Amino acid sequence: MDDCIFCKIIKGEIPSTKVYEDGRVYAFMDINPIAKGHTLIIPKTHAGNLWEIAPEDLSAVHSAAKTIAGALQKALDAEGVACLQLNGRAVGQVVMHYHLHLVPRVKGAPELPISHWDLKPGDMKEIQSVAMKIAAEIQ
Ligand code: 5GP
Ligand code: ZN
Repeated sequence: MDDCIFCKIIKGEIPSTKVYEDGRVYAFMDINPIAKGHTLIIPKTHAGNLWEIAPEDLSAVHSAAKTIAGALQKALDAEGVACLQLNGRAVGQVVMHYHLHLVPRVKGAPELPISHWDLKPGDMKEIQSVAMKIAAEIQ
């Protein structure tokens, strides 16, 4: 897609710091890292989000995530790796080309802002009624 930043990165029109590439996938360092090693994995074929991406590309991105998460563990001595993927401006997606964030937490680093929140028990009736609506859409 012509006006997509990540398509331009894949084409080499915008510079990036590559860590991995295969036939379907490109992975590079985020320029605004929220932790050391923050990596983005994208499909080479443009898709805006999880609703649009082809299953083969989705699978390729997440297989690459397994490989790259292993590399983060070894290269940075990461004790954990958070995988984050946003769909839609309402939940903070800024670049409208599917991307999976891999954010490692290395030994001694502060807790990641994306991986902890307060647990408050929900209303079980509401949880069950919402689940029924979702499940009905999957049939
Ligand atoms: P989103 O909120 O859409 O999930 O995150 C988009 C991510 O893309 C952000 O973390 C941002 O730092 C990163 N980003 C935006 N533009 C560029 C760019 O030109 N190069 C790189 N490497 N990362 C970018
Ligand atoms: Zn794109």
